[in-house]
Amino acid sequence: MVLDRPGTALREVELPAPEPGLGQVVVAVNACGVCRTDLHVVDGELPDPKLPLVPGHQVVGRVAVGGERFGVGDRVGVPWLGWTCGECRYCLSGRENLCDRARFTGYHLDGGYAELVAADERYCFPVPEGYDDLQAAPLLCAGLIGYRALRLAGEADRLGLYGFGASAHIVTQVARHQDRRVFALTRTGDEEAQGFARELGAEWAGDALHPPPEELDSAIVFAPVGDLVPAALAAVAKGGVVVCAGIHMSDIPSFPYELLWGERVLRSVANLTRRDGEEFMELAPRVRVRTEVEAFALGEANEALARLRAGRIRGAAVLEIGSLRA
Ligand SMILES: [Zn+2]
Ligand SMILES: [Zn+2]
Repeated sequence: MVLDRPGTALREVELPAPEPGLGQVVVAVNACGVCRTDLHVVDGELPDPKLPLVPGHQVVGRVAVGGERFGVGDRVGVPWLGWTCGECRYCLSGRENLCDRARFTGYHLDGGYAELVAADERYCFPVPEGYDDLQAAPLLCAGLIGYRALRLAGEADRLGLYGFGASAHIVTQVARHQDRRVFALTRTGDEEAQGFARELGAEWAGDALHPPPEELDSAIVFAPVGDLVPAALAAVAKGGVVVCAGIHMSDIPSFPYELLWGERVLRSVANLTRRDGEEFMELAPRVRVRTEVEAFALGEANEALARLRAGRIRGAAVLEIGSLRA
């Protein structure tokens, strides 16, 4: 499924099989998660995508053309971080997620809304046993970015999650495993998402623009809605952290300094490092993270994106591509 131009629908097209470049493997894709970032790319909210582009950066499949690290038949995940320079000040200080020249899967590099994808094997992960391909796909970004955001939220006992989509449904399970208390804040009146959050262990779920029943110690804002930032700052206690986890957000309205005062911290989380990936892939089976997915055929990618845009996905949307071949 190819994006020719931002703001247009993806087009189903037959492409030649990708040739592996230096250090790359070719992966036969079994499943590819649909991420909000894909929407931002398709809608033209992120600058300068490769065009035409195959989106998708939560890829689970089997190696079809092997390399040195992964052989034919190995099950691998291909994440958002597709390549880094290895020599800039960020790469050299354990912050490859901030590399100036980083290239991202499904944005600068063709991704997994396809039957085959070429990927630099140094950035691929082994996928934990115990997850089928569909359930593993959301771990690759919703899980990984959620996990990095949770780490940056610090030692919070009372954790607020603004926007209850694919990431939040995974983070809730990890946070509960760590004995934190989870408060889910959703669109006004979204009783379905609120019920889903409670099923997964949130002790309270309600509307995001109203204060939760008690102070939060930290909050993660997953929804791309700038209005939620002052709301989250107003909800966290002194010393609390508000982490913005999305790659794109509508403008944040101005707010009184008082909301930040008291050593509250406002920060973003950008991308992932390979270390995040390795840690989270090791953690997910120990927590027994269970992902809830809604499956779509590859040719239904536009519908999956439309449902995600409308907030009408429970858990994570995943394209089911070649699992029969596995
Ligand atoms: Zn770099
Ligand atoms: Zn993503």
